Amino acid sequence: MRLDDIDPTDNADDLGSGGGGGGGGFGLLGLLPLLLGRGMGCGSIAIIGLIAIAWFAMGGGGGLLSGGGGSAGTGQSPTAGKSGRQVCTGERLESCRVMKLADTTWETIFREAGQSYRPARIRFYQGNVDSGCGAASSAVGPFYCPADNGVYLDTSFFQELEQRFGAKGDFARDYVIAHEMGHHIQNLLGTSDKVSRLQARANQAEGNALSVRLELQADCFAGVWAARNKDRIEPGDIEEGMTAANAIGDDTLQRQMQGTVVPESFTHGTSAQRTKWLKKGLDSGDPGQCDTFSGAI
Ligand SMILES: [Zn+2]
Repeated sequence: MRLDDIDPTDNADDLGSGGGGGGGGFGLLGLLPLLLGRGMGCGSIAIIGLIAIAWFAMGGGGGLLSGGGGSAGTGQSPTAGKSGRQVCTGERLESCRVMKLADTTWETIFREAGQSYRPARIRFYQGNVDSGCGAASSAVGPFYCPADNGVYLDTSFFQELEQRFGAKGDFARDYVIAHEMGHHIQNLLGTSDKVSRLQARANQAEGNALSVRLELQADCFAGVWAARNKDRIEPGDIEEGMTAANAIGDDTLQRQMQGTVVPESFTHGTSAQRTKWLKKGLDSGDPGQCDTFSGAI
């Protein structure tokens, strides 16, 4: 995706490494990760967070970051503790540009609908972090925290996306950020709250099914964002996005990690569902087409 003329967002923080979290994912209330515990998918409630902890404890992801993440003992980045576009250096620059473009795009969509928009923040960290939704570890992957409108990213995830999940290319990364921004949109629309309330009364299988619908909508919103910036799409981008969405489907991840597939435990949807909804957003450019809550998915 061509982003070189986009200014990085000013709503950026470098939280540094450690963050005092150290919890490996405890207390993840309301947090929406991309693929919880590197194999379970993003969840939205603490119950799913607990699955992630179990997964993490089983070796589902934890050690994988230590090689590429610089999460332990490698010192702070020069911008640790700072905020603003000055933290958008190196491999963060692309994500900061995606954030800016996503805010601009969604602000326009909201304005057209007569609704007011609030920008999100991108919050970079390494290893562990104290987020507005509690302590988290980068083992959960990128996540969105509704409480502080924060998209939390340990950029070492991008190496894993390419090497472990086989999702190469800039648009694979852009899709990840756009998906988290999809959760920001759901937060602004009140959808995440609504789903959390329903989940609080639901059993685990029902809660997971709601999570799948929420996640698929975030995929669709990611597609809408890209469709609204068609002129920036380069050859290969769509394929990169589809490859990424396919690679982080619950069935694909479970098959890879545990050899078996347990549909009731899905929290994000299958590879087929994720690619379908991303494509739906891409083809339509219309958030109205992203109703994953009524009818079949
Ligand atoms: Zn998600």
